[in-house]
Amino acid sequence: MSHDIRKLLDIQDKNIIFEKNCVCFEKYKVQTCNIVQADLTYDPSHCPKCSRKKEDVFIYKNGKQTSRITIPMSGTHPTYLRLKKQRFMCKGCGSSFTAKTPIVEAHCFVAYTSKAQVLIKAAEAQSI
Ligand SMILES: [Zn+2]
Repeated sequence: MSHDIRKLLDIQDKNIIFEKNCVCFEKYKVQTCNIVQADLTYDPSHCPKCSRKKEDVFIYKNGKQTSRITIPMSGTHPTYLRLKKQRFMCKGCGSSFTAKTPIVEAHCFVAYTSKAQVLIKAAEAQSI
């Protein structure tokens, strides 16, 4: 099930874990949207702020931050990935940071696959 969703959405990042019954419909303003819920978590190898390795410093999990990422439409409804990103806290420098994923740029809410789709559509329009 989880594997099929991964294939369908073209999400290769193994740190993204799809929950059971992770697809639901939600009304957003006047539109019905598809929402796919997932978790992003892993053990960070080092702290991105002080670059100390996890062997040298205590990095612990500190809650989750949910972001809504636009992914390519499935069917006729806008589709979003509601991703619960793991937050980490570094005991060494006292800073916190969020889990990263290659499917979306940091601080961005549009997946690379969606950006690619826009480019493909733009190229099609040109050839007409
Ligand atoms: Zn640190």
